[in-house]
Amino acid sequence: QASRPTTYLDDLNPAQREAVEALDGPVLMLAGAGTGKTKALMARVAHLISTGRARPNEILAVTFTNKAAKEMKDRLAVTPFDIKAPIPWMGTFHSICVKLLRRHAELVTLKEISARELKSHPNAILEDLGVNVERARSTSQDGPHLKSNFTILDTDDQIRLLKQVIAAANIDEKRWPARQLAGLIDHWKNRCWTPGKVPASEASAFNSMGTELYEQYQQRLMELNAVDFGDLILHMVTIFQAHPDVLEQYQRWFKYILVDEYQDTNVAQYMWLRLLAGGHKNICCVGDDDQSIYGWRGAEVGNILRFEKDFPGAKTVRLEQNYRSTPHILAAASSVISGNENRLGKTLWTDKPDGEKLRLIGHWDGDEEARWIGDEIEALEKGTRGLRPYSPDDMAILVRASHQMRAFEDRFLTIGLPYRVIGGPRFYERLEIRDAMAYFRLVTSPADDLAFERIVNQPKRGLGDKAQQKIQMTARANGTSLLDGARILLQDQGLTGKGAAQLSLFVDQIDRWHEVARLHYSAAALADEDDVILDEDRPLAPFGHIELAEQILDESGYTEMWQNDKNPDSPGRLENLKELVKALENFENLQGFLEHVSLIMDNESDDAEAKVSIMTLHAAKGLEFPVVFLPGWEDGLFPSQRSMDESGLKGLEEERRLAYVGITRAEEICTISFAGNRRVFGQWQSQLPSRFIDELSEEDVEVLTPPGLYGGGFGAASGGSVQSGMEKRMTEANVYNSPGWKRMQARASDRPVSQPRETRGSVIDMTATSSHTVGERVFHQKFGYGEIVGVEGDKLEISFDKAGVKKVVAKFVTNPDD
Ligand code: ATP
Ligand code: MG
Repeated sequence: QASRPTTYLDDLNPAQREAVEALDGPVLMLAGAGTGKTKALMARVAHLISTGRARPNEILAVTFTNKAAKEMKDRLAVTPFDIKAPIPWMGTFHSICVKLLRRHAELVTLKEISARELKSHPNAILEDLGVNVERARSTSQDGPHLKSNFTILDTDDQIRLLKQVIAAANIDEKRWPARQLAGLIDHWKNRCWTPGKVPASEASAFNSMGTELYEQYQQRLMELNAVDFGDLILHMVTIFQAHPDVLEQYQRWFKYILVDEYQDTNVAQYMWLRLLAGGHKNICCVGDDDQSIYGWRGAEVGNILRFEKDFPGAKTVRLEQNYRSTPHILAAASSVISGNENRLGKTLWTDKPDGEKLRLIGHWDGDEEARWIGDEIEALEKGTRGLRPYSPDDMAILVRASHQMRAFEDRFLTIGLPYRVIGGPRFYERLEIRDAMAYFRLVTSPADDLAFERIVNQPKRGLGDKAQQKIQMTARANGTSLLDGARILLQDQGLTGKGAAQLSLFVDQIDRWHEVARLHYSAAALADEDDVILDEDRPLAPFGHIELAEQILDESGYTEMWQNDKNPDSPGRLENLKELVKALENFENLQGFLEHVSLIMDNESDDAEAKVSIMTLHAAKGLEFPVVFLPGWEDGLFPSQRSMDESGLKGLEEERRLAYVGITRAEEICTISFAGNRRVFGQWQSQLPSRFIDELSEEDVEVLTPPGLYGGGFGAASGGSVQSGMEKRMTEANVYNSPGWKRMQARASDRPVSQPRETRGSVIDMTATSSHTVGERVFHQKFGYGEIVGVEGDKLEISFDKAGVKKVVAKFVTNPDD
């Protein structure tokens, strides 16, 4: 009686059990998605502790993301074995290395990070890793060193510092942008190259100045007592290499090492692991070559393939039973991944009942897609079609690109559906979005000093710290806002040269835009009163708030700043900005939109509440959800344009692995969707369904009725199956033939944003009174779209889609087809 529960072992299948019980020596678990690799890894932790092999703090367990670390901790907490003690060294490479580096910061000296010091004198034991014992020992005490209270720079800080370094070297930052250098340095750090170790083949990088600037950057970091993300691991590897005593201490301390998602480790992480495991070799790595999705960030799938070579005598365990997904989901995922040439290949099976087929559905555009998914989530919550009810916690939306999140966030906020965004800032927290919002804030509230500070020199207007200080002082002396302070400073000619001209232009622009925004706002305020007959003499805004937003971003030079930025994430930022403008369509003016956003930002509610998860496919690795939505399966979005443009298959194969990761997150219900239209760089563009849709096995997929007509519900399949050929898919999903198509098309073609640019700045042409009849559809500047329900002379009674029934003067409405 009261025998010790050991269910953490009973729960496992024989192969898993073998991997768990083989405690000593290197173990590799190489297996497909959902086969219980992570589960077995956790059982191993429990087993190590319960058998007394190691105390909790003697186990080093590495996960790939913080979310995964938390998940692992949660799983450990539910193992019946009573592990009360926390596992302090369980976390991501970064979080573990921060802890280690704080302890040994003083060992990071300029001498040592300059690899010139480390190049020669290989140590007998760690020869292949380039350790230089004597040298390192003799130099470790000289020179400046890092202190344990170092700061970790975020990307913005990093860029700012690199700009200084570039400027100091007299290089034109316009031609050689800091972001490009940042990417390069990151790449080198991932490969574990300190400045002196960057190979000669990279000598031409960044105008042949790359390595030199890298070295200067490291020096500046040291002076600032700071590190960047890449340094966390690189410094630890360097310390281990240069200080065998420190390394030995940790080799002894961490008796057992466990690594999840091993297929995505980069060279630096790999070196770090090899050094730590070098003594006892009690290292257990688990992974799946088919889920290697971080190649673009320096991950080397080769690390997993050469494990057996690195650790001779390693025990390799393969798992084949999938416990996560239904047969349909598994078969569809296997069918997609089989399109990759470079893979080990493995068998997966499940004994689960068939369950639901994958569901495929086409939508008119991204907003429709978000609306449908929102409705679908609500239906699933209630339980439909004889399915069990699902909690929002059970459901996840996995997107390829972060800008896709905006449509979901907005929609869910509108319908009050609780959601969380995992692994990255939420849409409205992104740098470029905050900048753009600061412009909108300043335009709507010119006294918003924080907004002013944020953007006055963004893009660069030659208004550096000095000029900004002058503005501050003038504002303070006169008791005004910064914007007015700037105005006074200019009047008093307290600022001269290029900066003055630019500041003057900036102030004028803000004034001009403010006037337009004010008109939008007062129009909306009037509209709140019912039955308003609008004053014919009331000044009309020359253009709508969407044009205003576009104008602000374009004419301020903000959009251009990112267009000229060569960093790989700039296109993404530009897309986010376009998304932002698109979001304005749902509001009458900038003020209303800003209010909405402040509500979103406030929406950070309690963690206990059940929420739908929104995240990128990359962030979803290792996780699982009963219900998964995979939106945006369109060529150019997924697979990404970049991977399609690339010569060779490398990029495309990585995208395909991402598709495999996405589908295999689903336990019971998986819905893939695509939109026929998306706005790309401000232009509506028709999209083709993803080539990966073609690769789904037909017999595992059900094609749903198209959206637009919600009455159909999702049970009404069109009866078709997936057939090859994009045209066929489009026809089959009925994107072009759906009964709702015409309605959607009408709605889309008369969007105010599609108004040609030339009409900017001029009053929109008004149609004549006489032409109006009851039943006609019209567009009104403030109230949007509606249908005429009554005509009285030059006054019209209109039932607006959003604003309800109102009487307006006929000359203020236009034909929506114009
Ligand atoms: P991924 O490759 O996606 O990271 P994985 O191989 O790590 O997947 P796990 O997440 O460990 O797989 O397991 C998938 C699901 O299967 C989990 O819900 C887990 O609890 C369950 N599972 C794993 N092994 C077993 C088993 N032997 N018996 C019952 N359920 C299991
Ligand atoms: Mg896992």
